[in-house]
Amino acid sequence: MSNNKLVIIAPCYNEEEIIGYSVEQLSMLLDIMINDGIISSDSRVCFVNDGSKDKTAEIIINCSKKNKKVALIDLTRNFGQQYALLAGLNLNEADYYVTIDADLQDDYMLIADMVKKAKEDCDIVYGCRKRRDTDTFFKRFTARLFYKLMNLMGINIRENHSEFRLLTKNAVSKLKEFGERTIFLRGIVQNIGLKSADIYYDCTERLAGKTKYTLPKLIGLAWTAITSFSVLPLRFITITGFLTSIISASILIYAIRSYLKHYSIPGWTSIIMTIAFFCGIIIMSLGIIGEYLSMILIEVKGRPLYQINKTVNL
Ligand code: UDP
Ligand code: MG
Repeated sequence: MSNNKLVIIAPCYNEEEIIGYSVEQLSMLLDIMINDGIISSDSRVCFVNDGSKDKTAEIIINCSKKNKKVALIDLTRNFGQQYALLAGLNLNEADYYVTIDADLQDDYMLIADMVKKAKEDCDIVYGCRKRRDTDTFFKRFTARLFYKLMNLMGINIRENHSEFRLLTKNAVSKLKEFGERTIFLRGIVQNIGLKSADIYYDCTERLAGKTKYTLPKLIGLAWTAITSFSVLPLRFITITGFLTSIISASILIYAIRSYLKHYSIPGWTSIIMTIAFFCGIIIMSLGIIGEYLSMILIEVKGRPLYQINKTVNL
């Protein structure tokens, strides 16, 4: 049974309503898989507490006292789901890593099938939602917009796949070679390019608690996804700049001609409109350049991606 250690990594942020249930379900699943001989007995379920302000960590610690297979990585503050996942991947040694949301909206019973698929010869197994009908209209709309935008930017990501996936030891070692600090795991995993398989499931509604992905967090993730995998917004500026230069040149010729022909006084409206239009473009362009610049600044500062308060049963 060597080379069959599985670690299930579940990030959690203010999940006190559901975390007890999640610990129970995931450890039960682990026991079943161990009994069935799919994974080795040193397998673990590792919760990463992403700076919860409620009793999430306390509940996990209580469970981990009774069950040594329940591990905890407690981060010092809220770093965000992507960094919590990364902490889980970096701090655990395993042959198979499965990442899953702690609210168990994804079909966790499929983890056994994921491991089987990986054993059949692939390094990444993506969990993909068949439908999104348990999501709110807002979530469905923003998700569609996100995938459309990513497609437009030429960024290749699996549709309807979030963070429910299996990575083998090999895939995780490749993932660790990515040195970037603004992390969009879905994009990075896709970028690794190892052999992968898909597994489809119906996503259920949250049993308890509310979504921790507020609108600013969702926009932040989408923006990280775009800026870390595409320079198209910058190219867009260049093209816009080029086109506006041609327009400006034509306006200039027209203005000189009007001056020479002595009918240049009327036209205040068109001047104001032109100024406003180009100011808009210039400020927007500066903004986009600034965004990329701030990304470079974050990379250069090289601050820690997450910081650990303590670990239990790791
Ligand atoms: N999460 C986290 N840090 C955050 C926000 C979310 O660790 O800053 C966790 C959260 O506890 C959950 C997972 O990430 O386990 C996905 O979040 P959520 O279920 O709220 O997102 P949704 O399913 O609504 O997209
Ligand atoms: Mg959820």
